Amino acid sequence: MATAYNYLLIDTETFKKIKEKFPDFVEFSKTVEVIPWQEEFNVADRNPELLEELKFWNSLLESKLITPEEYNKNTKHIKQAKYISRTEGLAIIEDNVVSFRDKNPSTYVVIHEIGHCYFKEPDTIWNATYGGGEYLFWLTIEKNLKVNENTIKYYHKLLKDAIDNNTKAVETEILSKLSKLELDIYPHIGTYMLMAGTIPHTLSKLPIDIETEIFINLNSNKWQDIKVEKEDIISFFLNTLEGVRWNDPFYKEYFEAIFLK
Ligand SMILES: [Zn+2]
Repeated sequence: MATAYNYLLIDTETFKKIKEKFPDFVEFSKTVEVIPWQEEFNVADRNPELLEELKFWNSLLESKLITPEEYNKNTKHIKQAKYISRTEGLAIIEDNVVSFRDKNPSTYVVIHEIGHCYFKEPDTIWNATYGGGEYLFWLTIEKNLKVNENTIKYYHKLLKDAIDNNTKAVETEILSKLSKLELDIYPHIGTYMLMAGTIPHTLSKLPIDIETEIFINLNSNKWQDIKVEKEDIISFFLNTLEGVRWNDPFYKEYFEAIFLK
């Protein structure tokens, strides 16, 4: 039986790094069967993943998390999809079976499909395009982070809770972890974001006088009335991962406090 492990081995440099950070993931790949690409898989070219992705960008645009320009930039490939894009791989998550269209799929495609089977998560949670666990996976390799499979599972759990609107639970958990940093600010996702120079989504909806006060005074008691929304949490996570990637000093600290301590 051809297994996904055989495909992982092809890129020896990357394989070494992946094995060091995610040994259990690599071991698991030996149980993932690779079946030949079949005609009916092409149906996926109509592309559920892209539709999901489009929904994602639509929601960011609606919540004013991104500008129309950013929206157009990020959805360009989706609108062109029927001409240039295609599904490169497929995972049957429950059966630990994957298939690759190309005989020599890139390591990204191989990891993506194994990851679906290993973590048992859909694209909304795993796909790097949405800032899912896959993003953290590659960030770990790129930045040599002390992250393992459990870190990614934990991140998935937080993301899922946020997406399912359990925002209060995620917020409480994140704030308790961030409190270790002992920053002199009102404990709120929004104050941590502002501290790092990013503007929380919620603020754009407030009356201007309140907005100004809490914007300037990160210790203001008015922060207690500012409700955290799902979009704030997801945006906080995206900013945190991006911050680690670009060596932002604040977000790096947040990342460590939440995921590594
Ligand atoms: Zn996928």
